Amino acid sequence: MTASLYLKQVELGPMGNYIYFVGDRNTREVAVVDPAWEVDRIVGVAQENDLTISKILITHSHFDHINGVEDLLNRTRARVYIHKAEAEFMRAVWPDLVKVESGDTTTLGDVEITFIHTPGHTPGSQCFLVQNTLVSGDTLFIGACGRCDLPGSSPEDMYASLTQKLMQLDERTLVFPGHNYAQKPYSTIGDEKRSNPYLQFQSLQDFLRRGMGIVKLT
Ligand SMILES: [Zn+2]
Repeated sequence: MTASLYLKQVELGPMGNYIYFVGDRNTREVAVVDPAWEVDRIVGVAQENDLTISKILITHSHFDHINGVEDLLNRTRARVYIHKAEAEFMRAVWPDLVKVESGDTTTLGDVEITFIHTPGHTPGSQCFLVQNTLVSGDTLFIGACGRCDLPGSSPEDMYASLTQKLMQLDERTLVFPGHNYAQKPYSTIGDEKRSNPYLQFQSLQDFLRRGMGIVKLT
């Protein structure tokens, strides 16, 4: 029997960031993905829904995704999970940090989450795959991909992350991105493959030449 997934999407802050609660519907143990902007709201949502926050999962270290980590750490017993390359990139100083690699897993109750390293937007960007659901951070948006013209970005790495990792997932996989940049809150890998203009390339050269990943998104 598959464990019962709990997933809740909350939009917070001035940049349309999506924060996620992901975990076990039965045990109510959850992780918060990218806590930022309004920690009171995050704690409130957990209380209203009878959730225990035991982990904090970081897609990447940009300010708009992590500015609530410290506050949330002061209010929960959560441990922080970050890709090891991102921990080096940001020189992370949080206590009790768990540095993960691609393919590592962690559990919330009976629900297992797999970390997928997807460098490109930042060196240690990662996505979280849980059952048929991908939390994609700033790697894959609905109708776009993350910017690759920032410090630590690499369009070549983004191309590899998209083609060798995310586009290889089952087409029915649900995609929950890091920002509200679209008309709908989530998509699927299949829909993005077909309609996302940033996935319509023939080759790495094509991807680079057309400036994909160089877009006005954070
Ligand atoms: Zn970012």
